[in-house]
Amino acid sequence: MADALRMEKGKQLLKHYYAGQRMESPNGGFLILLGISPQKGGTAMGVFECSASSLRYEIVIPKATRTERKKVKDVLQAGGDPDCPRHGPDFRLVRAGKTLVCSHCGVPYARV
Ligand SMILES: [Zn+2]
Repeated sequence: MADALRMEKGKQLLKHYYAGQRMESPNGGFLILLGISPQKGGTAMGVFECSASSLRYEIVIPKATRTERKKVKDVLQAGGDPDCPRHGPDFRLVRAGKTLVCSHCGVPYARV
C-alpha cells in the first residue's frame, strides 16, 4: 500500500463519517474508506482514499470515552444488545475476542 498521509483535522471529518455523510477531501472530491484497523490501546486507524487525487489519508479514530463505555455497559447490564455510541442505532456492536467492537469504528466499547 502506498504511503498514507496523516490527517490532522480528522475529528471533524470523523463526525461526518459517524453520521454516514460524505467526507470532503482536502484536495477536492471526497474520501472513500479503504479500511479500518484496530490499534493497540483501543484506538483504530482508518485509511481513506481521495476520489479526486487518489492520495491516501490515515485518520486516527479515538478510543472509547468513559461516557461511551458507560452507555454501552448500561445497555449490556439491562440485557440489551448495544449499538455503536457513535454510529447510532442500526450499527450493532459485534463480539471480537473479549471485547465488543463497532466494525465501522474499529474501536472496542466494552469487555464481555
Ligand atoms: Zn461505530
